[in-house]
Amino acid sequence: MLDEIAAQIRACTKCRLCQTRANAVPGEGPADAAIMFVGEGPGANEDAQARPFVGRAGQLLNTLLLKADLRRPEVFITNIVKCRPPDNRDPQPDEIEACNEYLVGQIATINPAVVCTLGRPAMTTLIGPGLSISKEHGVPREIDGITYVPLYHPAAALYQQSLRPVLVEDMRRLAQSQE
Ligand code: URA
Ligand code: SF4
Repeated sequence: MLDEIAAQIRACTKCRLCQTRANAVPGEGPADAAIMFVGEGPGANEDAQARPFVGRAGQLLNTLLLKADLRRPEVFITNIVKCRPPDNRDPQPDEIEACNEYLVGQIATINPAVVCTLGRPAMTTLIGPGLSISKEHGVPREIDGITYVPLYHPAAALYQQSLRPVLVEDMRRLAQSQE
């Protein structure tokens, strides 16, 4: 089922991002993952390698996972749009909307205990519009039997060092809630 969704994504031409991608990035991880991470969209490295979070933000995500005693191979990692927005611009609302059925399908198939959104666009797409990440980060919300936890995006902590300990703490609490 996840493989089917991935195949549909690789063949997808539902929005303009298909025209500029080198590779679609469906996401990766086990079909029975207890925790899913959802970022904003592939960057240049992800587009080139067809894998999510493999650049600098990905390295920081790996570090954060380890600090929280999680291993990357045990979590599922994807994005709200599966193709890279040109020049790393924000994904546009119609692109997020066009791509949403794949994310919804992945969440329904995996049925994780926790979906962790990384950054504002993933938070507002999956948890609710108009939320403020500085207020809501780390705060869990149950929707349809799944706990959603918004975190800052690791890329934000690359530019703003003060966010790093906040992310570490939020990630640790998220992991502990699963023990
Ligand atoms: N940033 C994201 O939001 N997603 C990725 O896959 C990589 C960087
Ligand atoms: Fe299809 Fe999503 Fe890629 Fe747009 S971003 S072409 S909707 S897979």
